[in-house]
Amino acid sequence: MATEHTLSIIKPDATRRNLTGRINAKFEAAGLRIVAQKRLRLTQAQAEAFYAVHRERPFFGGLVSFMTSGPVVAQVLEGEDAVAKNREIMGATDPKKADAGTIRAEFAKDIEANSVHGSDAADTAAQEISFFFAGIEITG
Ligand code: UDP
Ligand code: MG
Repeated sequence: MATEHTLSIIKPDATRRNLTGRINAKFEAAGLRIVAQKRLRLTQAQAEAFYAVHRERPFFGGLVSFMTSGPVVAQVLEGEDAVAKNREIMGATDPKKADAGTIRAEFAKDIEANSVHGSDAADTAAQEISFFFAGIEITG
């Protein structure tokens, strides 16, 4: 397995409850290194662009409102098999279905306000990282 990078976002429900440090501790305990990180507030246009793949889905409008409702922390995680490993640490999209010990099982409020985003494949990870970060901002 190769060292990979993946994009993570700590979502507004989690930043609002001051959970950034506890979520980051889970990434680090699992061996993922946070190699870039910034806190920002997405505009409506930015949230719509980031989630464009979901624009026809019934939850799209609610998702964009939620993602712009407060600050997020965008981050690049580095490690062996980082894309899949992060998805494991996150848990299922619906926190009711997430395994015990995962971020979503512990912290998510519901299927929308589910505390974290993580890229789902190597190609989407590369696209999503470049949405938020310039190469010069990522230090291994
Ligand atoms: N989402 C939602 N309702 C749904 C499914 C998804 O509000 O029925 C939101 C949720 O915040 C989720 C995001 O849309 O994290 C993106 O959905 P996706 O299926 O890509 O889930 P993820 O990859 O985040 O687990
Ligand atoms: Mg997804």
